[in-house]
Amino acid sequence: MQQWISKLARLEVGEILPDEPMSKHTTWKIGGPADAMIIPQNVRQLQELIRLLHEEQIPWMTVGKGSNMLVSDKGIRGCVIRLGTDLESIAIDGAAISAGGGASFVRLSVMAGKAGLTGLEFAGGIPGTVGGAVYMNAGAHGSDVSRIFNSADIVLETGELVTYTANDMMFAYRHSILHEQRGIVAEARFSLAAGDRLEIAAAMATYKDRRRKTQPLTQPCCGSVFRNPQGDHAARLIEAAGLKGMKVGGAEVSTLHANFIVNTGQATAEDVLALMEKIKAVVADQSGVALVPEVFYVGER
Ligand code: FAD
Repeated sequence: MQQWISKLARLEVGEILPDEPMSKHTTWKIGGPADAMIIPQNVRQLQELIRLLHEEQIPWMTVGKGSNMLVSDKGIRGCVIRLGTDLESIAIDGAAISAGGGASFVRLSVMAGKAGLTGLEFAGGIPGTVGGAVYMNAGAHGSDVSRIFNSADIVLETGELVTYTANDMMFAYRHSILHEQRGIVAEARFSLAAGDRLEIAAAMATYKDRRRKTQPLTQPCCGSVFRNPQGDHAARLIEAAGLKGMKVGGAEVSTLHANFIVNTGQATAEDVLALMEKIKAVVADQSGVALVPEVFYVGER
């Protein structure tokens, strides 16, 4: 075991899983081992962990549910942080809802709906964490996190805990300030509005049904692989280029949704990357559009 892992094991910074296979923590079920995954249970442990990693100059990154992440076959050098149980709680107070960064975004949406709060219906089919959703400004069905975001408690890379307002977050299409300034969302607060429980449930059922019909939800995947170019859809461009069903190794362009790549069983990160390169080349050739990935490729190259 590396020295820094033994050192952290002697301190109270959360559960430590050495050589943890990242394929267990990504919805693509792809990815080699992380040197160590550490699971802090509360904000205090999270701050202490980040402070120590900063001091020791150990590289680190955060993973939520790994639903927007391609991890390299060689895995991740350094520490992968996953938020533990105390950072998964959800509390509702009137029309305000607060949630730990590790809470399920789907669960948040369901709880808001059951409480008769409207604004989070769009989140019912986004299988990430609250922290991942804030980082990504995740969105669907004409809405996104920025529309309901109030504030978040964020642990910066020095271990300092700060509160960011919606202005501070600089939200844009699948973008937040956290893409440029490293930090971990420990808790986020959202402002919803009172709504009709039945109408909320009906909207969520419609969205769910639409996804079931148009997305390969029974196969390991990572949602949309490429960002939608201005005024168009990546899926339309990929389908128009005749690429549905194209395969590299175990990775396949979904026959149901052209902007999804599915793992048909034994896909590697290299398979997915090679398929993405082919898609980019053919689409650029046929429509002149340069597709940009929405998923993050992380780990040792
Ligand atoms: P991860 O994939 O684990 O991480 C993504 C990024 O967020 C990484 O850079 C990570 O470091 C960072 N991050 C994670 N947690 C934190 C934290 N606590 N603090 C700071 N940074 C953090 N996305 C949409 O926007 N709309 C959709 O409709 C949609 N549909 C999807 C459907 C399917 C079937 C799938 C598999 C994915 C879909 N996605 C969609 C993509 C994905 O679910 C979202 O991007 C989601 O917000 C990612 O959350 P996560 O917790 O899985 O993040």
